Amino acid sequence: MTATHDASPPCVAVFTRDLRLHENPMLSAAVDSGRPVVPVFVHDQAIIRGLPRRAERDAYLGDALADLDRSLRARGAALVQRRGDWSTEVLRVATAFGADTVHVLEDVTPYARRRLELLRRGGGRVAVHGHEGVTVVPAGAVRPASNDHYSVFTPYHHRWLATPWRSIRSGPRHVPAPTGLGSAADARSASGPARAGGPSGDGGESGARTRLRRWLADGLEQYVERRERLDEAGGSSRLSVDLHFGCLSALEVAARARSQVGGAPFVRQLCWRDFYMQVVTSRPEALWENFARRPWTARSTSGQLDAWREGRTGYPLVDAGMRQLSVEGFLPNRARMVVASFLTKHLGLDWRLGARHFMELLVDADVVVNNFNWQWTGGTGTGSHPERALSPVRQGKRFDPSGSYVRRFVPELEGLPAARVHDPTSEDRRRAGYPAPLLAR
Ligand SMILES: Cc1cc2nc3c(=O)[nH]c(=O)nc-3n(C[C@H](O)[C@H](O)[C@H](O)COP(=O)(O)OP(=O)(O)OC[C@H]3O[C@@H](n4cnc5c(N)ncnc54)[C@H](O)[C@@H]3O)c2cc1C
Repeated sequence: MTATHDASPPCVAVFTRDLRLHENPMLSAAVDSGRPVVPVFVHDQAIIRGLPRRAERDAYLGDALADLDRSLRARGAALVQRRGDWSTEVLRVATAFGADTVHVLEDVTPYARRRLELLRRGGGRVAVHGHEGVTVVPAGAVRPASNDHYSVFTPYHHRWLATPWRSIRSGPRHVPAPTGLGSAADARSASGPARAGGPSGDGGESGARTRLRRWLADGLEQYVERRERLDEAGGSSRLSVDLHFGCLSALEVAARARSQVGGAPFVRQLCWRDFYMQVVTSRPEALWENFARRPWTARSTSGQLDAWREGRTGYPLVDAGMRQLSVEGFLPNRARMVVASFLTKHLGLDWRLGARHFMELLVDADVVVNNFNWQWTGGTGTGSHPERALSPVRQGKRFDPSGSYVRRFVPELEGLPAARVHDPTSEDRRRAGYPAPLLAR
């Protein structure tokens, strides 16, 4: 599978969370340079240590890397995998292949930016080129006159819609490889981290492109009516994991959706993603600190936290959401808002407790999107309403009117009619062995 292009030194194409061939500016730049390309992924020890393992998340990453390797091999190269300190390993690979250039995605999180800075400083004669590719519109490209970022969504959205998007590039047909790449990749994948094993096995770019095609053909048109529903009438794209790992390009998804019927409200959600990413670029400290002042002091610990985590609050919609999170590692947006509002507004607990729990369990865990949504719901975020609390009972009746969502995840309440499933009587609770509401105990 290896090709030889030894006239000029190779370059290294470092994949991070852009695990795709299509619409990948980093890979296109490496191939366009005319040099042989060494594609690399480093399993970053700091991330592995910092984030608790979730089997489905590991499985998705394993699938995505296997899929990327297959696609690269079909085009003449292969993926080299290393494990350890990220910048050290990238430079080791560059040195091993005699490369003088590294291409890499410019990411937005404080950690990714620090890591890239270390690579730049440690690179010596190796030139490091950063490329866009996480967002639809690059963070920092849309700015208000008086500040370096927008802190309110609506004006950002208006400007974002009016900003020209770069044109979509298809993936390279051929990725020229230097001599020895095949054996370096093979040797490593034999000793590299094994796939954790997952239910579907279709994580990664190929599966994601199929999911996108199906969504555009069968789901998008009804998005606006169905996205908030939690019962069987509900449906959103479920592309968040594919977008988080960059197996789909947010730009490509937005560009394909915007020309279709029903596309605008969906593209607006992708704009929220961009919005938070431009905020964190300018306000990195707000990832774990309050973005705006909160009018009351949140409590930081409570026995009530365990009841919330375990789905035993006695509020059926909250418990259904927390149990779905634990079983599936996914939650629809409305359920995320309700359980987050309950933790912060009803229990008065610090949003960071909830955000950390979400980061541990969500398969689509994305520290920027997660934490800024937590702050928005908890009342310390961008343009949020500190006083607004979502009533689990009213939200349940509105977004799960048949009660099927609650019945699916809280089987104790299975026998209750739709009218009482969100607000069981004391007798209902006693018979079902379902707890009294936490705040009334
Ligand atoms: C408390 C809380 C925590 C969240 N944590 C995460 C997280 O860790 N990772 C994550 O990807 N999303 C998070 N979200 C946003 C949103 O809930 C999910 O992106 C969405 O539910 C995923 O389902 P989907 O792909 O079917 O969404 P769709 O409705 O089909 O939306 C399409 C895409 O738009 C983006 N998007 C949608 N809603 C939002 C939003 N509110 N903010 C920013 N981007 C959005 C996502 O990339 C999503 O995949 C969180 C929301 C809340 C309220």
